[in-house]
Amino acid sequence: MNENDTEKMYILLSDEYEPTQNPEEADLILINTCSVREKPQHKTYSEAGRYKHLKKKKPNLIIGITGCVAQQEGENIIKRLPHVDLVLGTQGFYFIKKALETFRKTKKPVILTELKPDFKIPLILEKENTSIFPNKRVTAFVTIMQGCDNFCTYCIVPYVRGREISRAPEDILKEVKELVKKGVREITLLGQNVNSYGLKEKGYPDFADLLDMVSKIDGLWRIRFTTSHPKDLSDKLIEIMANNPKICKHIHLPLQAGSNRILKKMNRKYTKEDYLRKIEKLRNAIPGISITTDIIVGFPGETEEDFKETLEMLEKVRYHEIFSFKYSDRPFTVAQKMSNKVSEEEKKRRLKKVHEVQAKITKEIYESYVGKEVEVLVEGLSAKSKDMFMGRTTTNVIVNFKAPRLDLKGALVKVLIEEAGKHSLKGKYLETLKI
Ligand code: SAH
Ligand code: SF4
Repeated sequence: MNENDTEKMYILLSDEYEPTQNPEEADLILINTCSVREKPQHKTYSEAGRYKHLKKKKPNLIIGITGCVAQQEGENIIKRLPHVDLVLGTQGFYFIKKALETFRKTKKPVILTELKPDFKIPLILEKENTSIFPNKRVTAFVTIMQGCDNFCTYCIVPYVRGREISRAPEDILKEVKELVKKGVREITLLGQNVNSYGLKEKGYPDFADLLDMVSKIDGLWRIRFTTSHPKDLSDKLIEIMANNPKICKHIHLPLQAGSNRILKKMNRKYTKEDYLRKIEKLRNAIPGISITTDIIVGFPGETEEDFKETLEMLEKVRYHEIFSFKYSDRPFTVAQKMSNKVSEEEKKRRLKKVHEVQAKITKEIYESYVGKEVEVLVEGLSAKSKDMFMGRTTTNVIVNFKAPRLDLKGALVKVLIEEAGKHSLKGKYLETLKI
């Protein structure tokens, strides 16, 4: 989501600025931030501190902090870092042009951290025939909703991104169509809880119908979405996923914890039994679907028994990949005030254990791809080796492969998988299916 917000800022600023990789060269430095855990929040301050000396050399340099940490900290940022000029929150960053104008006039810090419950996400499209993204993009994100109403007790998102607001379906379709015109083949629809898309707004389609609408766009080959809250995953969505060939066979379904007692304290509103039933439905309806998840270890009061239930769930569900985190106290949240916090050392131990258990499962699953032919959408050259291409299967597994031709970026190809790595597969190019 942050990456997508960054792209929006690039587009908004593209008539005034060009991107540079070199901070010494920059006239404007924006640090777009995440505050979901404590670590990225600390990084904001150290990153911003790093640019202080540049301002001495170049007094006209403008430095801004945008996104969730800006939202959370507001003017505290200016108190701590007086060399920062702009503090633009999760709605405020859309007004970057105006903020720059005001700053240039007044030379005083501009702070935009109001969160309006009726905020309408503006439609920001790249201009025709221009591209500020230097390489042709094969995949892109499209935000379909902002904010969250779920208030999981550990989570800062509802406080820094505000209440849930869905974007108008016309705007979403327009944005996808524009991206497809520019060569994008795969779209990931983004929201904190995509399954509740459109439910609060009058006359909007629900998420399953939105997927159907987006899939009718010619030239778009693949659709992904994230994140699905397990409590709102409907039978209708499962059916559409099963029947619409453009929707990828992958779902990210954050479990967070395996113990019902902890899930209740987290305010997740499902039990592990509910969760397993949904997994079964998904697997029955969509054979071969890959499932990934988020796990938090060491939530306040999590005992060794509770933790073992998380490990058991990993074994039961057999996720392709997981993202796991040590619980981290966040401002404004309910969990922050809970007693029986788990020690840092214990959280570290549990995280390590989670990694171990999952590494074995991922390895087994990846090895099961060896010898199979898979369809891969080619995203570009591989990061590791310049003579290989990189793409993904419909199940969202990264595949690296060599090919006899060089024009495969953006193509859908068939690859024979020959080798399984830790987080990717290696294979041999067989043929081009679509270009
Ligand atoms: N809306 C998504 C999650 C967004 S935050 C959902 O409900 O699944 C991304 C992930 O960060 C969460 O799934 C959770 O695993 C993790 N996370 C959020 N708050 C956290 C905290 N206080 N400590 C550790 N991990 C956290
Ligand atoms: Fe945070 Fe829960 Fe909302 Fe996800 S659903 S953003 S974890 S409050």
